[in-house]
Amino acid sequence: MAIEDDVLVIGGGLAGATAALSAAERDATVRLISYKQSTLRHASGLIDVLGYDPTAVAGTGGEREGGEPTPLVDPFEAIPDLPEGHPYERVGLEAVRESLLFFDSVAGDAYAGDHTDANALVPTHGGTVKPTARYPATTAAGIASDPRSTLLVGFETLPDFDAPLAASHLEAAGVPFESRGVTLSFPGIERDDAKITRYAHILERDEPVDSGAGQTSARAALAHAIGAKLADESRVGLPAILGDDHADTVRRDLEERLGVDVFEVPMGPPSLPGIRLEDLLYDALEDAGVRVTTGVPVVDYESVDADGAGANRGQIDHVLVDRKRKRVPYSADQYVLATGGLVGKGVQSDRERVYEPIFDCHVAHSEDRYDWFVDEAFGEHPFAQFGLAVDRELYPLGADGEREFSNLRAAGGVLGGFDAPAEKSGGGVSLSTGYAAGAAAGEEVDR
Ligand SMILES: Cc1cc2nc3c(=O)[nH]c(=O)nc-3n(C[C@H](O)[C@H](O)[C@H](O)COP(=O)(O)OP(=O)(O)OC[C@H]3O[C@@H](n4cnc5c(N)ncnc54)[C@H](O)[C@@H]3O)c2cc1C
Repeated sequence: MAIEDDVLVIGGGLAGATAALSAAERDATVRLISYKQSTLRHASGLIDVLGYDPTAVAGTGGEREGGEPTPLVDPFEAIPDLPEGHPYERVGLEAVRESLLFFDSVAGDAYAGDHTDANALVPTHGGTVKPTARYPATTAAGIASDPRSTLLVGFETLPDFDAPLAASHLEAAGVPFESRGVTLSFPGIERDDAKITRYAHILERDEPVDSGAGQTSARAALAHAIGAKLADESRVGLPAILGDDHADTVRRDLEERLGVDVFEVPMGPPSLPGIRLEDLLYDALEDAGVRVTTGVPVVDYESVDADGAGANRGQIDHVLVDRKRKRVPYSADQYVLATGGLVGKGVQSDRERVYEPIFDCHVAHSEDRYDWFVDEAFGEHPFAQFGLAVDRELYPLGADGEREFSNLRAAGGVLGGFDAPAEKSGGGVSLSTGYAAGAAAGEEVDR
């Protein structure tokens, strides 16, 4: 069928959005098709490159006393030693660096961390510190290398962030500053089932609230309540609820009223910093002229030499999208598969097998499903690394090691060979492989 787009990206998470932007930057016409919401809305909004060394084993210096892993100071020093098949080993160190520069150009001053190769340690809602490469500017004043004393403020109706507990965890983790936590009631909210966006909207619109001493604005009431608890701390950390589109305005207003720096502490899902990152990426896609189709799944494909089976099945002619049970074809010259891992449903499993559902690309796994897991709940489970094996140009490989298709690349969570939650590399792998796959697809278009 006639080619409609130069590049078609399947999947609208961090990997797919980055691939589409990177291809569009090379003057390709790009379409992105995505089914459901990506994991961006659940993720913290942090972009981790490599927080922990996956090759470090007990007794080799990769662990602190007590068996806890040591966060990596410089992820770029560890990347060259990653095992063969790890996505960073496939794309190479330079692509990781370039993808971060690309991200910085897209994110502008909404993100920080570009001044150094070293990981920043960002406090999270559980009172742990997370090694990360890029973090929202709203979290910047809270990083753990900053020795200033800190007041953490939680809210009675937001039990996910227990500020006194988080403060004591931070101290126990050995951060170089004093921290104290208090719990307040949030002006204008009495129910503990209010959505996270309700907190953001009250602050963003600076809604009138009843302060007990008459009506006042939400931000004034919040600043007043925090001010009454502030001792000599020089910064205040609040859960990441300080607004949706205008979090910066809310934060600066609170800073002015309190006379100290204010920062957001990343929370669990649903996550406003994750939603803000998604908005930022989708605005960039619109500006770049990428055509975005959402809410429909790609369910199948047809190749040019359709009789080919198994590995090296030729060239994809078009994919089929399920629109209310009608199979609608979309064709392109080049394709990027960025459908996520087991969470995004880009890789699926049943009792018999682990598989990639659109193109049936090969996913290596043991025949015996009892080998997919280990006994220890927090052990190194093989299933955590299930995904597609690719060559250094990100073409998925069949069981025989040959390219599955001549015009399909893969990026992000759909790839195998790494354990994102354990090594803290999810964002960086999506960014670097999405960037590299999109760039290569955009450059290879047959114009
Ligand atoms: C709870 C949580 C917290 C996280 N926290 C962090 C963090 O702090 N730092 C960090 O760096 N990373 C974090 N991550 C990881 C990161 O957000 C992403 O999961 C990872 O980068 C994978 O992104 P992706 O684009 O490959 O896939 P996904 O985000 O899973 O997106 C895949 C997209 O493909 C779509 N799709 C799937 N199948 C089809 C189909 N057949 N047709 C069309 N579209 C399809 C899905 O609907 C989805 O939109 C977190 C993830 C989770 C789940």
